[in-house]
Amino acid sequence: MPKPTPMFEQYQAIKAEYSEYILFFRLGDFYEMFFDDALIASRELEIVLTARDSGTERVPMCGVPYHSASTYLAKLLSKGYKVAICEQVEDPKAVKGLVKREVVRVVTPGTVIEDNLLQEKVHNYLAAVAEAGNALGLAYVDLSTGEFLATQFPKQQTALLTSELARIRPAELYLPEEEYSNLATLIPCERHNITFGPALYFRHDQAYGRLLEHFHLQNLHAFGCEDRPAATCAAGAILQYLYETQKNALTHLRKIVTYETGEFMNLDPATRRNLELTRTIRSQELNGSLLGVLDLTVTASGGRLLRTWVEQPLTTVAAIQTRQTAVAELTLNMEIRERLQEALKKTYDLQRILSKLAGNSGNARDLLALKNTLVKIPVIKTILQPLTAKRLVQIRAGLDEQPELTDLLCRALTDDPPLGLKEGGMIRSSFHPELEKLHQASTQGKKWVAALEQQERERTGIKSLKVGYNQVFGYYIEVTKANLDAVPADYIRKQTLANCERFINQTLKEYEDLIINAHDKSIALEYQLFLEIREQVLARIDQLQTTAAFLAELDCLVALAEVAVRYNYVKPEINEDGRILILDGRHPVVERVLPRGSFVPNDTAIDSRDNRVQIITGPNMAGKSTYMRQVALIVLLAHIGSFVPAKSADISLVDRIFTRVGASDDLATGQSTFMVEMNEVAYILNHATAKSFLILDEIGRGTSTFDGLSIAWAVVEFINNLKRIGAKTLVATHYHELTELEQRLEGVKNYHVAVQHENGEITFLRKILPGSAAKSYGIEVAQLAGLPREITDRAREILKTLEKNELSEFHELKQSKGEKESKEGKAEQRQAGQQLPLFELEADVVLEELKAFDLMNATPLEAFNKLYQWQERLKNIDHKADSA
Ligand code: ATP
Repeated sequence: MPKPTPMFEQYQAIKAEYSEYILFFRLGDFYEMFFDDALIASRELEIVLTARDSGTERVPMCGVPYHSASTYLAKLLSKGYKVAICEQVEDPKAVKGLVKREVVRVVTPGTVIEDNLLQEKVHNYLAAVAEAGNALGLAYVDLSTGEFLATQFPKQQTALLTSELARIRPAELYLPEEEYSNLATLIPCERHNITFGPALYFRHDQAYGRLLEHFHLQNLHAFGCEDRPAATCAAGAILQYLYETQKNALTHLRKIVTYETGEFMNLDPATRRNLELTRTIRSQELNGSLLGVLDLTVTASGGRLLRTWVEQPLTTVAAIQTRQTAVAELTLNMEIRERLQEALKKTYDLQRILSKLAGNSGNARDLLALKNTLVKIPVIKTILQPLTAKRLVQIRAGLDEQPELTDLLCRALTDDPPLGLKEGGMIRSSFHPELEKLHQASTQGKKWVAALEQQERERTGIKSLKVGYNQVFGYYIEVTKANLDAVPADYIRKQTLANCERFINQTLKEYEDLIINAHDKSIALEYQLFLEIREQVLARIDQLQTTAAFLAELDCLVALAEVAVRYNYVKPEINEDGRILILDGRHPVVERVLPRGSFVPNDTAIDSRDNRVQIITGPNMAGKSTYMRQVALIVLLAHIGSFVPAKSADISLVDRIFTRVGASDDLATGQSTFMVEMNEVAYILNHATAKSFLILDEIGRGTSTFDGLSIAWAVVEFINNLKRIGAKTLVATHYHELTELEQRLEGVKNYHVAVQHENGEITFLRKILPGSAAKSYGIEVAQLAGLPREITDRAREILKTLEKNELSEFHELKQSKGEKESKEGKAEQRQAGQQLPLFELEADVVLEELKAFDLMNATPLEAFNKLYQWQERLKNIDHKADSA
């Protein structure tokens, strides 16, 4: 009965444990895959499928070279596979028979640490969600930087959790097994790459124990986890998952940072998307987003932090001003800024370097990068010396030069160490006496061999004699067949080739042993020294991580100052009175793509009192959306501590920014354009407060005109009403009827975007002015867009008819409503707290009476009395409208 070969027995035992992963099985210089794994990998990676005898049958096999494995790994991860990496854990030279193999790491999208699988300036988060009591916990870790964060939310506020997940965009989400939890139904999981783990890991006792063990603590007070049980469950579960997948030490996970989402401005997923904070809606690219303009950071960790800043605006004046003051001082000092950026450019990504070293995947080049970064710290501190802003002083104090470690690294490392750890060339001879001896021996030996060729040519008289080396036979003396007669007696034949013979002699053998021995020994010693130095680094990981965080922050502050100067931004005042006053505001992204100087700045004045809601009308393409987004972005920039694109700005703290912009189908979740819009509007109406800032770019567009107009009208009334929301709001609309609200509601003001209209042609002036626009000029804009003349002419005809009809319909509607209302009694309705009806009827009744009044037959007194009554009734309407 045939049996599998020992190697296949070993393979099958390991594969049984990692059945849900593709197993990369190390064989010499390749990772081989067998059976179904080979079928999948050859198809997905487009590599050749071969076969190998397993002892019982020929099985499918394919492989990838170990040195280029990460490219293949990336492909498999991007296609949703997870890979278990099985290495030879013994030196094949040192053992007889089968080499021991073990899975050393499981690579999943959330646990990647390889540089070429990561984006430099983007975090790669693994997140977990857990439930405990009445709360939902969220924890997330970036294994490549060692950052570990956790928070929790009341269970009924799933939207907060969804918002946080939309912000951090985890590469992988870890949830308890479906049959034990309904979390997967609470979260929009289709957007995430999910891994389910045993429900047990998410239980508080297990999770808590895991965390205590990892952090060597008695309790979790220091991390603020004690009163956040749900956050603790999520954090513990993540850690458990990491222990299972990463195997090796997770020493760089040094602390958990817990936070409340209230510390940062809550931005819902739609608002993040609509404001294009970190990527554009259309192409999902950084270029064209707000971050794309702001990111003048020069380090990867600075880039990642700035992204976090943009995504987490601050919520207190003090926190904002701390950043602002630092940015302000840096704007004043071009030379310091330049010198800092020059120095920062020469630093390396400490966070990721430390993670690699802690995760046993770091090499001597990482140590060298660490050294090159550390030597820049004193330079940076000297440059910072004259600066006095509180945060800059704190950063300077917090940057730790680590002189001893720097000295150790300077003495130990060669200038150009190789990638591998077991090929020597990492450590300077002078660093260790034994290593020096070994290096000398091997160099001497090599020199002796180099001189041997000449010496033997002279001794034997064979001019073509050569000394060479190959892996299998070692050093040899090569003599062509024609010269074999002249070979001296001390040569020992080793190998015969077609045209020559290869020999060795006793002295060459001795030198060969010396060279090879010394070489092997020096490699082993260098590896040992590397491990010792790495230990020294890891012993200081806390200080080094702190320094890394300060470097990142400094880079961000310098970048914001650079943006402010380069693009002419101004420091905004921050108030808590609801005032948003912007003079000559600009859209930070649009102004960058337009030719220099062609962006038209605009002023903004909104507050919590008389100027709460702006109704903005104007032709298509006039610049309404740009203006509204510009105000939202200026408000947001002020909240991250940045300067803003304006001549001056006084910005109130806002609790949230909401946007309702454009129309998009969400066919994947089975929602129509209008349904998506109404969902978003409902969300805003349910969550906005008087401290919020809203932009509504068209509401009620995806349905019939009257339905849409009525909805828009009612929504604006509700938002403006101080008893309901009373939020500062910009509304852009093509429903010109909405401009009537200015007359009726205190707090609403009309604005329009100015255009010039001459001889059927319009010119956009891009200026926002008080008052409402006359019309939308949709047909003129369509003509500009290139619609055939035949169509636009016909459209004009249709428009005329429609306008006529609409007017009479409008009139009928008002009349029928009038009858109804006079029956039910308007006063009663208003007392019940309802808003004014869509179309005010009283004024129309007055008009009708005026038209019907028989002036010729009335006495002057009758006429005067009538006039007085009508005026009173009209005044009364205004009064009621104001107080509604
Ligand atoms: P629609 O009603 O059709 O949605 P809109 O009024 O919202 O149009 P925007 O989309 O804001 O118009 O602007 C159209 C284009 O006008 C922008 O893409 C931009 O190129 C230009 N624009 C907008 N505002 C300005 C400005 N202040 N200065 C210069 N150009 C501007």
